Amino acid sequence: MAVQWILICHVLLTALVVISFLCGQWPIFRGTFIERIHYFITFGAYDYFLRFVGVICGSRGTDAILCVEDYCCNRPNPIMQFIYLGILGGTYYVIVKSSFDYIPSYYLSEIHRYMSVLAVGVGILLFLLTSFSDPGTVKAENVSQYISAYPYDDIIYSEKECSTCDIPKPARSKHCSICDRCVARFDHHCGWMNNCIGERNTRYFMAFLLWHFLLCIYGVVALGLLLAGRLKELKVIYILTGKMNSPFSLDSNFVSAVYYGIENSFSSLAPYVAQWLLGSYNTQVLLMVFLIIVALLLAGFFGYHANLCLTNTTTNETFKWQDYLSWQKKLNEAKASEAALKASISGLSPDKKAPEGKWKSFFRRSPLEHVDTVVKNNKYDKGYFHNICEIIFPYSSRPSFSRTKLKKR
Ligand SMILES: [Zn+2]
Ligand SMILES: [Zn+2]
Repeated sequence: MAVQWILICHVLLTALVVISFLCGQWPIFRGTFIERIHYFITFGAYDYFLRFVGVICGSRGTDAILCVEDYCCNRPNPIMQFIYLGILGGTYYVIVKSSFDYIPSYYLSEIHRYMSVLAVGVGILLFLLTSFSDPGTVKAENVSQYISAYPYDDIIYSEKECSTCDIPKPARSKHCSICDRCVARFDHHCGWMNNCIGERNTRYFMAFLLWHFLLCIYGVVALGLLLAGRLKELKVIYILTGKMNSPFSLDSNFVSAVYYGIENSFSSLAPYVAQWLLGSYNTQVLLMVFLIIVALLLAGFFGYHANLCLTNTTTNETFKWQDYLSWQKKLNEAKASEAALKASISGLSPDKKAPEGKWKSFFRRSPLEHVDTVVKNNKYDKGYFHNICEIIFPYSSRPSFSRTKLKKR
């Protein structure tokens, strides 16, 4: 039973850390221990570490740490790329070492030995494509084409010049301070890819997320089928129900005479089967738990970006829209309260029209209720079909793009 408890604690702890890290700043967790864990992971731990180094090694130590931090966070570097390759390679290596001996099994044919290599290979290919492809760098040669492709909406984008690149800034572009270049239809700078995600490589990035989600699901299903095959091959159910005395040597001594004669129903067998699996195949069970957690994270991330793609918005623009909408809301509220103030002042002046009846004035709606609702008017959203086409066939990859000449502005 000890393994079972370790596994449960492991799952709960991982879930707590992941939820705190990703969602700790959400309003529903305000004031809770989840928010405190989030603060500790994202800021507190590093701050304590920096102070600790400062006490032990003095200012030279903290300077060195800050130098490393600057390299890791503010400069292009391949650290996260190596971490990705390490996680993928490590997980696949553990799967091969622990499970390939059982393939082919009752439910899993030999072909999965090669299919898995192919699936991982495609994953790495998509990673390389996203990492090393041009995200849509805006240069003096193509800036006019990009300005034609994405007209200024005069809401969140207006004509400006990039002070670093010294070229006009096309709508939807942003200067990435890490890569030191302007990127068209800028989404975000991805540390895992060590590259910006922009107009030309959003398609590879989306394919990468979807493929790795499917890869995790494939892993979970294949490992599940492998374990089901082991159950079948070792006739564990027969032994547990006492329909057969075991002539086989099992991987563990767990299935012993003590458990013979268990009722042949799912609810009575499940705990014993789970215990047997955890005792004999804990590596595969842990791998499945790990893959499910990664799959859930990837599904969330893919869903978020798929929604952005469908509405033709970028991560960068969501922040711009948030700022714009809250600013507009405040402006409208200010206008409404100004109108309310004016109305109440004019109501006080004696030369005004006859006063309203007591009940009429009671039921009159407050002028503050007339605050106009602010709507997001995304000029670049041209319907799902067009938006998806724009991701798969970016403007800059179309023949019409290179022919476009900027009209005189
Ligand atoms: Zn720039
Ligand atoms: Zn970048």
